Amino acid sequence: MNGKVYLVGAGPGDPELITVRGHEILAAADVILYDNLAAPELLTVAKPSATRIYVGKKKSDHAMPQAEICRLLIDHANSGSIVVRLKGGDPYVFGRGGEEVEALADAGIPFEVVPGVTAALGLAAYTGVPLTHREHTSSVTFVTGHDPDRIDWTRVGHAETLVIYMGLTTIGAIANRLIAAGRAPDTPAVVVQRATTPRQHTVFATLATLAEVVEQGHFKPPATIVIGEVAALRGKLDWFEKLPMFGQTVLVTRAEGQSEETARHYRHLGAHVIEIPLIEIQPPGGPVTIPDLAGYDWLIFTSANAVARFFDALYECGRDTRAIRARVAVVGGKTAKALEAHGIRPDVVPELWTAEGVVEALKPEPMEGARVLFPRAAAGREVIPEELAKRGARVDVLIVYKTGIPQEAAARLAAIDHADWVTCTSESTRKHFLALGGQRLLDAGAKFLTLP
Ligand code: SAH
Repeated sequence: MNGKVYLVGAGPGDPELITVRGHEILAAADVILYDNLAAPELLTVAKPSATRIYVGKKKSDHAMPQAEICRLLIDHANSGSIVVRLKGGDPYVFGRGGEEVEALADAGIPFEVVPGVTAALGLAAYTGVPLTHREHTSSVTFVTGHDPDRIDWTRVGHAETLVIYMGLTTIGAIANRLIAAGRAPDTPAVVVQRATTPRQHTVFATLATLAEVVEQGHFKPPATIVIGEVAALRGKLDWFEKLPMFGQTVLVTRAEGQSEETARHYRHLGAHVIEIPLIEIQPPGGPVTIPDLAGYDWLIFTSANAVARFFDALYECGRDTRAIRARVAVVGGKTAKALEAHGIRPDVVPELWTAEGVVEALKPEPMEGARVLFPRAAAGREVIPEELAKRGARVDVLIVYKTGIPQEAAARLAAIDHADWVTCTSESTRKHFLALGGQRLLDAGAKFLTLP
C-alpha cells in the first residue's frame, strides 16, 4: 500500500486563498490533520468519509505534541492513506513544516509540499499595506517575535518593512530594541488580527505606540504586526474592510449541498457566513408516478428541487424530456437554471418570484380547459392551483418531494448567539427557523434576507 503525505498551505484565513493544487489534494484526502489556523470551511472540501484530526497548536494549548503529529502522519501514510497535513498560511513559514517533512524523509515516507499564502502576504493585500513599494522600501523581512532574545534586532531593525509573526506579547520589548538600534519612533505600523477573514481587525500605530495599541486593543492571536513606511499607505489602499457587508454575520439556511453559491456571494461582500441548513429535501411518502405528459398544456415549477425530483422520476420510469409537450412556467432564476440543465428553456419566468407572480404572468394565456401539471412539495401553497382553476384550467398537483428539518439544525442554531441577516429562500425555511427558536436572533436585531 502506497500512502503519501501532503503538507498543504491552507492560506491565511479566507478559505478561497488556498491554492488550486491544495484544494485538489484536500478533496482527495483520506486523513486530514489540521490546526486552528486553517479556515474551518476548508474541511468541508474533503470527502465525507475522510478522517479529520485536530492537532491544535495554540501557543498555550498544544493539543498534540509535535512528535505525536509526526507519528500520526507516518502511521497513516504507512497504512496506505492519502494524508493531508493542512497548515495555516504556508507550511514553511513559521509553521514547523520543515520539522515535519524531515521526520517523513527520515521514515522514508513519500511526501509533497504545497505552498500557501502566508499571513504576511494575505494581510498585505487585505489591509492595503504593500510590503514593498518603489518609493518607500525595497526590502522586507519576516521575523518571529516568539523569542526576541534569539534575534539580533540591530540587524533586523534595518529591514525597511518588518513583518512580525507571533509578536503580540513581546512587541513592547521588540519596539524598544528597534528604537534603541536607531529606527525612528514615529515609523508607521499596523497590527492586524485575523487577516483576510470577516473578523479582520486592523489598527494603525507607530513604533513608539505599538505596545500600548496592542494592549489596549485587546488583540489576540492570530495577529501580525507590520512596521515600515508602507503601513501609512493603508488609508488609501484599504478595500477589504470597505466591502459593503464587511464584518456582518449572515446565516445561510439553504439545504445541504445547495448553499455554496449563496455563501460565496455573501463572503465576497465581506460577510461572515455561517451555513446551517434549516431545510432538508426528503422523498415524498410514496412513489412518484409521472402521468402521461402528452396531454398537458402547461408545466409549472416553483423550485429547483421540484425540477430535480420531477426529472429524477421521469428518467426513472424510462422516459425523457421528449415526453414534454407542454409550455413551462417557472418561479425564480435558480429554478429556471435547473430546468435549462435538462435542455428546456422556460416559456414564462415572472418578474415577481412568487406564486402570485406566476398567476399574474399567466394572465395573458388562455386557461379555459387547459391542462396544467404542477410538481411541487407536499406542503405547498394552493395559490397557483386555485387561481388557475378559477380561470377554467384543470390543475394536477404532483407531489415530488417533501421538506423536513435536518436533525442537527436545532443544536447548531442554538449555538449561534448573533446574526445580522438570515437568508430566507422559502416559506418553509422561515417557518423552520421560527420553529427552532430563531425568534431569539430576530429579537436581538437579525433580519430576514429574502433572496432568489
Ligand atoms: N505558517 C503560518 C504562520 C504560523 S505562525 C503562515 O505562513 O502564515 C502563527 C502566526 O501567524 C500568528 O501568531 C500570526 O502572527 C500569524 N498569522 C497567521 N494567520 C494570521 C491571520 N489570519 N492574521 C494575522 N496573523 C496571522
